[in-house]
Amino acid sequence: MASRLVYLDYNATTPLDVRVLQAITPYFTKSYGNAASNHAAGVVARAAVEKARGQVARLIRCRSDEIVFTSGATEANNLAIKGVAEALADQGRHIVTQITEHKAVLDPCKTLERRGWQISWLRPDSGGRISPEQVEQVLRPDTVLVSIMWANNEIGTIHPIGQIGRVCRQHRVLFHTDATQAVGKVPVDVAADQVDLLSLSAHKLYGPKGVGALYVRTGVPLAIQMDGGGHERGMRSGTLNVPGIVGLGAACELAAAEMLQEAPRLAALRDRLEDEIRRQLPGVTVNGSLEHRLPHCSNLSFAGVDGGALLSGFDDVCVSSGSACTSAIKAPSFVLRALGVPDDLALASVRYSLGRMTTQADIDRAVEKTVEIVRRLRGMA
Ligand code: PMP
Repeated sequence: MASRLVYLDYNATTPLDVRVLQAITPYFTKSYGNAASNHAAGVVARAAVEKARGQVARLIRCRSDEIVFTSGATEANNLAIKGVAEALADQGRHIVTQITEHKAVLDPCKTLERRGWQISWLRPDSGGRISPEQVEQVLRPDTVLVSIMWANNEIGTIHPIGQIGRVCRQHRVLFHTDATQAVGKVPVDVAADQVDLLSLSAHKLYGPKGVGALYVRTGVPLAIQMDGGGHERGMRSGTLNVPGIVGLGAACELAAAEMLQEAPRLAALRDRLEDEIRRQLPGVTVNGSLEHRLPHCSNLSFAGVDGGALLSGFDDVCVSSGSACTSAIKAPSFVLRALGVPDDLALASVRYSLGRMTTQADIDRAVEKTVEIVRRLRGMA
């Protein structure tokens, strides 16, 4: 990447931390064994996988043998939702989720809906949050699963996971959370918050792409979604991605050690970004809850600006649209719509997500660029 590029799209993906790269490298060329082999090379690979399992488990505070490695959070979500639904199909076919989940939760639920399951699609408040009362109100004797994300990828809003977990446990309903954007950024404790299943992904916390994990609390029934050689205690077959898993483990260990210092640094930079933009520009609104949100992200709407032109103006400042872009067709973000943001404002929204490598100079450049684009587009309007 050219040095002048400012990357503020850490919610889409993060660069690999060089320390993670160092941890991974030997597992491509030197310690390349198959973790399922019983010879010396296999034993080395297996030991590395088990070390990583412990590192992931320590970050989210579960037991090592409750971690199932997957190809990422999309697969983890599919395994959790379809796995529980199919395993408990005889007990009930009702699932509770909400409308601002990532597609990797929405779509497995829609698939189950087409297959005859009933889904309650909860609607968040104007801050993007679901309350434990909302969940409790829709629980039924045939409810088998509640799936509510830890934090939203577009607006960073954090849901009351501990309270929802308690409601689910009281009603003996399993609780899954897609914590892809939260793990490694804010403390996650599956035992304290009474979570039964949790999805995470390495490439959101400075690890490699194409690897993630599902936490499955001991005793939670899961129908297998990937048949084969019986890897991962039969829950997910396929030769283990040893370098990827080692990278996920290393990334989790770094996050555990550094998260608590990193979060206030990023929150201060995020606040600087918001304060400066709002000082220089009228008509800027912050989307999502201000009180309950990830420290490193900000989603802003700019009144009186053409949404299509806004994003294309950023070029060397990598930010993301709050809306889904499919080639030429631009649709307002379903997340912002769910919050009640009008379509023209939803289209004129920008997600800034900061991370470990973000500097104050990056923020100042992003402010400068934003102010310049918005002033120019407002002048043309
Ligand atoms: N859930 C959330 C909340 C996400 O932000 C993402 C990544 N955009 C995913 C799931 C999918 O993760 P992966 O890329 O590992 O499949």
